[in-house]
Amino acid sequence: MKPFIDPFEPAHVRRLVGEFGSPLLIVDCERIRAQYRKLARVLPGVDLHYALKPLPHAAAVRTVIDAGGFLDLATTGEVQLAAALGVAPERCIHSHPIKTGRDIRNALHFGVRTFVADNPDEVRKFARFTERAELLLRISFRSPGAVCDLSRKFGCDPSEALDLARLAADLGVGVRGLSFHVGSQAPNSGKHVEAIDACAQLLRTARREQLGVLDTLDIGGGFPISYAQKSQEIGSFCAPIRAALARLPRRLRIIAEPGRFIVGPAAIGVAAVMGRARREGRWWYYLDDGLYGSYSGQMYDHARYPIEALRSTGERSPCVLAGPTCDSIDVIAENVMLPPLRCGDLIIGRAMGAYTWASASEFNFFPKATVVAVNAHAGDAGSV
Ligand SMILES: *Cc1c(COP(=O)(O)O)cnc(C)c1O
Repeated sequence: MKPFIDPFEPAHVRRLVGEFGSPLLIVDCERIRAQYRKLARVLPGVDLHYALKPLPHAAAVRTVIDAGGFLDLATTGEVQLAAALGVAPERCIHSHPIKTGRDIRNALHFGVRTFVADNPDEVRKFARFTERAELLLRISFRSPGAVCDLSRKFGCDPSEALDLARLAADLGVGVRGLSFHVGSQAPNSGKHVEAIDACAQLLRTARREQLGVLDTLDIGGGFPISYAQKSQEIGSFCAPIRAALARLPRRLRIIAEPGRFIVGPAAIGVAAVMGRARREGRWWYYLDDGLYGSYSGQMYDHARYPIEALRSTGERSPCVLAGPTCDSIDVIAENVMLPPLRCGDLIIGRAMGAYTWASASEFNFFPKATVVAVNAHAGDAGSV
């Protein structure tokens, strides 16, 4: 049994870079477990389906499943990852509102039963699978305040939901309930509450019309974490959600699809200085990871990761941290206060588990960071 290690300790970071090289994404499964438990505690009775998209990695999936969690799959690739890990399909839902026939068949073949649809064409795709599939209808609640408003691209207007449920009933497609996703990194839980209250009304009407089993409400993701900027603490974020859930009709199964909250704080990015140059009175440090790599989240996810140097000695001065590619846009941060650095010195980005490595590319042939998962087994840990 390997000893528990804190991968965020400088000595351990150096050891892991010595063993695996750089750049690294060090994922601490113990922190994934802690995040899972924290959310489970403030959302009692809610089944947590980890959405794979922010970090589609076997270590994250295994850790959530071992902790008693469930999965939210959205693509054939994610279905294949869950299948390869031997996850029970009953613990999975498929939540992409738009799917090819092949996506649906692959998920059904794996054994997923619950799918999401948000428009008549998509509901009709399930007319051939009435014995094997049932739907959650995704409703859109616009959220211009969220950093990523997911209700613009997906979801039907609340006023169209009952017609969609009627269409499903006409086709013999089972409707299990409703779902929504108010958008990622929500500033507060106001939209969740508004959406839960609106869904309660829709569920009551749909049950009265007997439009399906309607025993499930999926409240999506959006649970925020702190970056360079602090977010609302999860306990106070979820208190109004709990109150709204208590107002729902009885005998409802509530599920959520957290992604960012489960894995975001659980990983750090580690990049090494490849070279440096003094330009216009400042040091420019060129790292082996950048905006086309793990820091892609700065572009796609609008995140600002807390960044620091592992070396702490020396007088700090404003520096520029640049990525490795030949593209001028590939600058991670300007005016970061850093001590003097040399080639091989390490830069740490915190809260880099979600929407970082997942959206990295190998532009210019710079490889993506190697993912190193530590503390993979509860209690045993240390294993990579
Ligand atoms: C991305 C996504 C999630 C995860 O959202 P977070 O804000 O990261 O929790 C959940 N459900 C669906 C359908 C998604 O597309």
